[in-house]
Amino acid sequence: MYAELTRLNNQLLTMQRELEKKNQQLERLAYFDALTGLLNRHAILEKLAEWLIHVQRYGERLSVAMLDIDHFKQVNDTRGHRTGDRVLSEVARVLQRSIRQTDYVGRYGGEEFLIILPSTDASGAAVMGERIRTSIEGTPMTDPASGAFPLTVSVGVAEYTAPDNEDLLISRADTALYRAKSVGRNRVEVAPFPSATSQ
Ligand code: GH3
Ligand code: MG
Ligand code: MG
Repeated sequence: MYAELTRLNNQLLTMQRELEKKNQQLERLAYFDALTGLLNRHAILEKLAEWLIHVQRYGERLSVAMLDIDHFKQVNDTRGHRTGDRVLSEVARVLQRSIRQTDYVGRYGGEEFLIILPSTDASGAAVMGERIRTSIEGTPMTDPASGAFPLTVSVGVAEYTAPDNEDLLISRADTALYRAKSVGRNRVEVAPFPSATSQ
């Protein structure tokens, strides 16, 4: 009887451990992007929403950076999707290395990344964006078939200002990114504050 109870108890413990492992795997799937290991779109937007509540309440500064790989379609078209995927992981690694421990980076879309920079104003965000831009420019990507090749990114940064919400802040960063693309790519552009644009 006692032996049987011990056996059942051990069986239960094993099942419990397996369940915990499965739960951890599910949690990873829900929050992290499988290819790059960064926060996924859902998770980075959730972080931004949390931080905006914080800055709106305490009046602290916060900036975001939207980053997009330049001519990424060409990489896929000329070197194949496997190399394209490797490039995404490599860019993610550079981003993770470049940000502070208090910052967050997520994969916002296919080859677009969103970085949240708490306690950072627009000029600090521009400095960080420039650091990332040069760091990617200086990290040759590898392609087993044809060797190393250069890659660049464009960045748009925007600092939170009332009455921004997540959508408005991201759309201001997006507009700055679009400007960076249209003036030649491989550069960082800072979004003006809304009052400055309407003047
Ligand atoms: P631009 O400099 O204007 O940003 O040009 P672009 O070519 O980077 O922009 P475009 O939006 O035309 O292309 C984005 C490409 O990203 C198209 C799509 O095939 C590729 N892409 C998106 N997600 C993935 C992915 O997960 N893996 C790979 N290999 N490619 C992806
Ligand atoms: Mg894009
Ligand atoms: Mg692109």
